[in-house]
Amino acid sequence: MARIADLLARGRTFSFEFFPPKTDYAQLTLGRTIAELESLSPGFVSVTYGAGGSTRARTHAVVEWVRKETHITPMAHLTCTAHTRADISEILANYTDAGVENILALGGDPPAAGADPGPSDYSYALDLVEHIASADGFSIGVAAHPEMHPRSADRASDRRHLAEKLKRADFAITQFFFEADHYFRMVDELASLGVDKPIIPGIMPVTNKNQVKRMAELSGSVFPAWLAERIGDSGDEAEVARIGVEVATELCATLLDGGAPGLHFFTMNRSNATREIYGRLGLPTS
Ligand code: FAD
Repeated sequence: MARIADLLARGRTFSFEFFPPKTDYAQLTLGRTIAELESLSPGFVSVTYGAGGSTRARTHAVVEWVRKETHITPMAHLTCTAHTRADISEILANYTDAGVENILALGGDPPAAGADPGPSDYSYALDLVEHIASADGFSIGVAAHPEMHPRSADRASDRRHLAEKLKRADFAITQFFFEADHYFRMVDELASLGVDKPIIPGIMPVTNKNQVKRMAELSGSVFPAWLAERIGDSGDEAEVARIGVEVATELCATLLDGGAPGLHFFTMNRSNATREIYGRLGLPTS
C-alpha cells in the first residue's frame, strides 16, 4: 500500500470514489464494481463518510476490505461534523491498526433539516487536518471547490482559507465541475497565494441529468446551459450516459493537457462510465 503524497510525487494518479453501501445487495454491486475497476490499476480509491458519522462503521468496513482483499490503496473520508477529538483519535487509531495511511479531511455535509448531529470539537476542515497531522503517518487530502464553496462569503476569502488548509495538507481533490477554466483559474489563484500542492480534479460523468443537476445545486457547481442543451430532454438513459461520457472525456483530456496531476472519478458505485472514459483517453490498464 502507499501514501498518496508519494504516489503523486511519482506522477499522475487516477482514482475512484465510492460510498459505503447500505444493503447486502448494494454491497454486492460495490464488490463487483471494485473488481471491475481494479483492472484499470487505479492509484487509489476513496470511500465517503456520512454526515455526522452516520456511516462510521460502514466506511471503515469498506476501506478495510479494500486494504485487505485488493491490491488498491484505499483512502478514508473523515468529517468534522459531530465528532469530538476523542472520537477522531479512536478512528485514526483503528485505521492505523488496519494499515490505512490516507485520509481525506472534510468539513462535512450539513445534517438533514431538523437533525441535530451533536457538537463538534472542530470548526473547519483545517482543524481536522491539524489533528490528523499530529497523529503522524497519514497522508492527508482536503476538498477544494473550483466554483467556490457555497458558504464562502466571497472568492478572496474562499481561496485564502483553501490555501491555508492546503499548506498543511498533502493534496486536494475538487468538487465536480463541467468547465476546465474553473479548475485552471483556481490553480492559478492558489499559486499566487504561494500554494502549489497537487489538486486532483473531481470528475462526475452525467448518467442521470436531474440527479447531477440537484447535486450541483447543493455543492456550488454550475450545471451549464450548454450541457443541459446537449443532453436535451431525452428520457433514454443509455443516450444520456453516452453524452455524459463524451462530455466528461473532453473535460478530462483538457485537464490532463493543461497539466492536472490526475483525475478522481465520482463513480456512484458503478464502473461503466469510468471504464469507458478510461478507454477513450487511452489511459493505462493492467
Ligand atoms: P472547510 O474547509 O471547513 O470549508 C467550509 C467553508 O468554511 C468554506 O466556505 C470555507 O471558505 C470556510 N472557512 C474555512 N476556514 C475558515 C475560517 N478559518 N474562517 C471562516 N471561514 C472558513 N462531505 C461529507 O459529509 N462526506 C464525504 O465523504 C465528503 N466527501 C467529499 C469529497 C470531495 C472530493 C469533496 C470536494 C467534498 C466532499 N464532501 C463530503 C463535501 C464537504 O464535506 C462539504 O463541501 C463541506 O460543506 C465543506 O467541506 P470542506 O472540507 O471544504 O470544509
